[in-house]
Amino acid sequence: MTASKDVFVYIEQRNGHILTVSKELISKARELADILKCQVRAILLSDKMRDEIDTLYHLGADEVIHVQDPKLKVFLTSYYTQAVVQIIHDRNPEIVLFGATTIGRDLAPRIAARINTGLTADCTRLEIDLENNNLLMTRPAFGGNIMATIICPNHRPQMSTVRPGVMPLSNLDKSRTGKYTNISIDFKVSDAIEVLEVVKEEKKKMKIEDATVLVSGGRGIGSARNMSPLEELAVELEGTISASRAAVDAGWMPKDTQVGQTGKTVRPDLYLACGISGAIQHIAGMEESEYIVAINKDSQAPIFDTADLGVVGDAHQVIPELLSLIRENRKDA
Ligand code: FAD
Repeated sequence: MTASKDVFVYIEQRNGHILTVSKELISKARELADILKCQVRAILLSDKMRDEIDTLYHLGADEVIHVQDPKLKVFLTSYYTQAVVQIIHDRNPEIVLFGATTIGRDLAPRIAARINTGLTADCTRLEIDLENNNLLMTRPAFGGNIMATIICPNHRPQMSTVRPGVMPLSNLDKSRTGKYTNISIDFKVSDAIEVLEVVKEEKKKMKIEDATVLVSGGRGIGSARNMSPLEELAVELEGTISASRAAVDAGWMPKDTQVGQTGKTVRPDLYLACGISGAIQHIAGMEESEYIVAINKDSQAPIFDTADLGVVGDAHQVIPELLSLIRENRKDA
């Protein structure tokens, strides 16, 4: 129960590149640590890597605790668990945050069980209770119908996994530096799994959470085939296509393109909602977009309350017209 009061973030890297969610978590950890008046410490496990470490200081980390070992080249639960558990035992953090990625969702519960503490998974909000300094961990519950705020008052550290794309990234402060601690772990565990080869799945499209322009289709688009003009428009604008849950449930679009409470949270520069009514669960995933344009044939559709620009019309007519206008303008430029 007696913790160091510091906020720790597990930094996830793939091939030496730090994942955006880890950067988002360092930004959030800085905010929490400033309230708690404590330090932000990043836990980084890799076989080799030094290049991107400075970014962690620029975003708010005070120390990077780095375990470098050939055994950590690819993620293997047993080695990674042992390393993080040892660091937690040695340093006694108050809070430990993980990205709610496939790896974070595997690692965090194992660690929580080993060190006998709680874990709140898939959080969308983190705050400090100013009365007692407990971490308030909020996440959708009961299929997203309510938001539940969970506390872990009797055990330390307080641990949570946090959805990618939810916490805003801080601006880089390039004058910030921090402490670098390289530690070694005497790996005692053996793993029954041996990784022979890592084969990356070929992905043709960019991830919706990385796109600066999203053209999003809903039930109003009518069919999978009708999504093609939206895709064409997205390509023209150097973005990609996303969808509402209705379009995903209808099988017109893959699940990883769903925007919203039970899909992904996105913040593109431009979000173009086509044939989407603007249900609260959809808005929750896109309202932070820089500029929102809605095309809907119902002038009373709630999406117009969130949009910066609304076009009342049939998407099947508006999108081809918009596409040809953009192409015309490009020719003239
Ligand atoms: P609809 O609500 O059916 O809207 C279709 C719109 O298209 C209408 O406004 C209509 O006027 C318009 N339209 C029709 N034809 C045309 C045309 N030719 N041109 C232009 N406009 C046209 N939804 C999400 O999107 N993401 C989520 O993550 C999500 N999570 C959920 C979680 C829970 C627990 C629950 C209960 C629901 C969730 N939903 C989510 C579902 C959400 O409540 C809505 O049902 C869904 O967003 C509706 O999708 P839609 O806007 O595409 O369809």
